[in-house]
Amino acid sequence: MYDVAIIGAGPAGASAALFTAKAGKKTMLIDNGKSLTKKAWIENHYGVEGIEGPALVDIGIKQATKQGSEFLEESVVNISKDGDAFTIETENNKVAAKHVVIASGVLTDVADKVGLTLVPGTEPRIKTIIKTDSDGKTNIDGIWAAGTVAGVSVHTIITAGHGAHVAINIVSEINGERYVDHDILQS
Ligand SMILES: Cc1cc2nc3c(=O)[nH]c(=O)nc-3n(C[C@H](O)[C@H](O)[C@H](O)COP(=O)(O)OP(=O)(O)OC[C@H]3O[C@@H](n4cnc5c(N)ncnc54)[C@H](O)[C@@H]3O)c2cc1C
Repeated sequence: MYDVAIIGAGPAGASAALFTAKAGKKTMLIDNGKSLTKKAWIENHYGVEGIEGPALVDIGIKQATKQGSEFLEESVVNISKDGDAFTIETENNKVAAKHVVIASGVLTDVADKVGLTLVPGTEPRIKTIIKTDSDGKTNIDGIWAAGTVAGVSVHTIITAGHGAHVAINIVSEINGERYVDHDILQS
């Protein structure tokens, strides 16, 4: 049983996995390789001098797995509620998790199939998004949404930031107190 399963390893999903895994939560990151970000050349990501989108995506996945997240390169086809947990079905696997984060970019097919409330997008070229509250919670308790699919501005610094925001809210909920992840520079 995973504490958190994350669907989508673009900036939003991989950033979320980095935080949940680094917080010691058993994390599974699942992705089928269709990130928007793979088409980008990025000059406006604070702290990173010009980077190719594919490289940013690869680094994000490496950061998450370095902190202990598992990574499955498959498509999620369904999510079902199983008692107080969820079963995430991919083409060849089933993953059980207490919390699910949908960070699927512009793709809302699984969200729709699961019965999440979808609303029209408000960002340019974004047709449909998942309705969430300010913490990233959806209409199904235990399912969260982050990044483009949650309606934030479609920029890597913002989608990655939103993934971290949602992850910190999940870790705080599991821990029963607000969570902070600060490392100190060794002098
Ligand atoms: C041409 C182009 C140029 C851009 N230039 C810039 C720029 O200069 N600066 C900037 O900040 N942003 C830029 N962007 C936007 C940037 O790529 C996005 O903002 C953003 O980072 C999206 O992040 P995300 O994690 O929400 O979605 P994505 O990066 O799209 O990630 C979603 C992931 O979910 C996966 N997924 C979806 N459904 C499933 C499923 N059922 N099973 C498994 N995996 C699934 C997809 O394969 C994908 O990898 C650009 C985008 C494009 C298209």
